[in-house]
Amino acid sequence: MKPSHAIIVSTCIIGASAVRMGVNTTDFEAFGHTLGLSESAIQSLENRYVWAYTSAGVLGIACLTATFALQPDKVDTAPINQTVVEVNWSESCWDEPHCVIQPQSADDVSKSLRIIDFFEVKFSVRSGGHSPNPGWSSIDDHGILLDLAKLNSISISNDLTYASIGPGARWNDVYLTLGGREVVVVGGRVPSVGVGGLILGGGYFFFSNQFGLAADNVRNFEVALASGAIVNANATSYTDLFWALKGGGPNFGIVTRYDLYTVPTYEIWVQQSLYSIDQAYDVLAAFDEWQLNGAADAKSFVTLFFTLNHAVVGLMYSEPSPRAPDVFAGFLNLIPLQTVVPSSNLTFSAVTQLLSAAFPSTRGRHDYRGCSTRIDAQLNREVYAAWREKALAVHEVTGANQTFAIQHVGANMARQGALKGGNPLNVPSGDMQWWTTLIDWEREEDDELVRSVSIETTDLYEELSKERGLDLPFIFMNDASQDQNPLTSYGSENILRLKDISKKYDKKQVFQKLQNGGFLLSKVQGTEM
Ligand SMILES: Cc1cc2nc3c(=O)[nH]c(=O)nc-3n(C[C@H](O)[C@H](O)[C@H](O)COP(=O)(O)OP(=O)(O)OC[C@H]3O[C@@H](n4cnc5c(N)ncnc54)[C@H](O)[C@@H]3O)c2cc1C
Repeated sequence: MKPSHAIIVSTCIIGASAVRMGVNTTDFEAFGHTLGLSESAIQSLENRYVWAYTSAGVLGIACLTATFALQPDKVDTAPINQTVVEVNWSESCWDEPHCVIQPQSADDVSKSLRIIDFFEVKFSVRSGGHSPNPGWSSIDDHGILLDLAKLNSISISNDLTYASIGPGARWNDVYLTLGGREVVVVGGRVPSVGVGGLILGGGYFFFSNQFGLAADNVRNFEVALASGAIVNANATSYTDLFWALKGGGPNFGIVTRYDLYTVPTYEIWVQQSLYSIDQAYDVLAAFDEWQLNGAADAKSFVTLFFTLNHAVVGLMYSEPSPRAPDVFAGFLNLIPLQTVVPSSNLTFSAVTQLLSAAFPSTRGRHDYRGCSTRIDAQLNREVYAAWREKALAVHEVTGANQTFAIQHVGANMARQGALKGGNPLNVPSGDMQWWTTLIDWEREEDDELVRSVSIETTDLYEELSKERGLDLPFIFMNDASQDQNPLTSYGSENILRLKDISKKYDKKQVFQKLQNGGFLLSKVQGTEM
């Protein structure tokens, strides 16, 4: 890890330490001035930098520089506060970084990026930390964690047409704050999830079939680029970057603010029921009936997932209704074990509170995984049966809990994306379903066995759907596990375009080379960077 701009005249060993001689003082001072450091701070850092010849030493200087440039309370060095480490949803991501930088403004993010670039140190960016993929929004002591938790402001424009939201906010706070003005944005369904990563991966919402993905409803991204420049990408400025950020992942910069259009819904009809697992095939049949017929009414949405013990069904309609809308008829003949939320018209804030109670954060190791196919009831029955058998067997050995969830994607979702300016996802046209799962387990030694259930499930969906002409290549980034490559499914044309945009705005490819993990363009084979 040698800064290319530092002229190393010679390195001599004094005792156990290596000394970097002849650091280019002009470069170092110019760099220090761009950060607004005092002469004495620059001198002090430079003196230490001369002595830092190991990668840990350089990291230490990078963290110290951040302490000077951003103020000490924004930089946490060893011993790192464990509550900050344990923010990540999955324990498999609980790594202790060399230091944690907690920016409080876009300018702080810009300075952090300039420090990372200058010292060429590894980094990760974390908003809500809900990616379960180790190293995506976590990093060990070989790098710096940029924790955006304090960039969490939420405000609404005077005319109520858009909300400005910091990446570190959680959807719970977003919906409760916007509820005060009776507006809703397209975002995440589980309230504890973070804003930053969800939108960069697309963002599938209850009413995405009506309004498009969260990313489709972005009015403006404020982004700190690798150079430290802060730009606004929207429909009239940095338009290529705007398109790329609408689902292109963590490849282009750090988004420091999302301006999201509000959508015309607030009071909605809901009902939630819990069914016995013995009713699983009846519930699945009702769901597929809705997918194939009822879902043509894009105001309707069904949340469906199976745990090992129950089937959970949430019905929603994006406007009030005196009774269950007819599109849900298939569910109304089923007798639930428990009606968790009876047929009601509720504000979206009230729905958010119910969802927060229904989805408490669970400790442990976690994963998710995804695939997509055309809709077919027989296909779903067969894969569900295979999943359940395997998931039960693995539960016996490991205690792991897993879910089997199907997310309906109507043709209107991709149409909305196109109408709102387009995105890079290349979602196939027509109706489809995105399968996914949430997995919880305890022990690291069970990682492989537990993950084998979801891997075999996506493999089976792929195999059977190919045999039956129901296969689709699309993998949704926000459901993708560490070994999947959702960007590949965006298609070679979009990948080439994304790579061009990445090179245009990140000339040194800081986000590809120094970022610790993530769904990175550099990992997409076959199209050169
Ligand atoms: C319980 C649960 C429910 C979920 N529900 C939904 C859902 O309804 N819809 C949906 O679409 N997805 C859903 N997801 C998936 C979720 O969108 C992803 O896990 C997403 O990455 C979470 O965002 P985050 O900010 O918490 O992630 P993080 O783990 O903080 O970040 C994820 C990735 O984005 C990068 N990143 C984060 N913020 C920024 C930024 N500001 N600038 C640049 N890069 C950044 C990180 O470096 C990392 O690579 C759910 C996940 C869970 C665990």
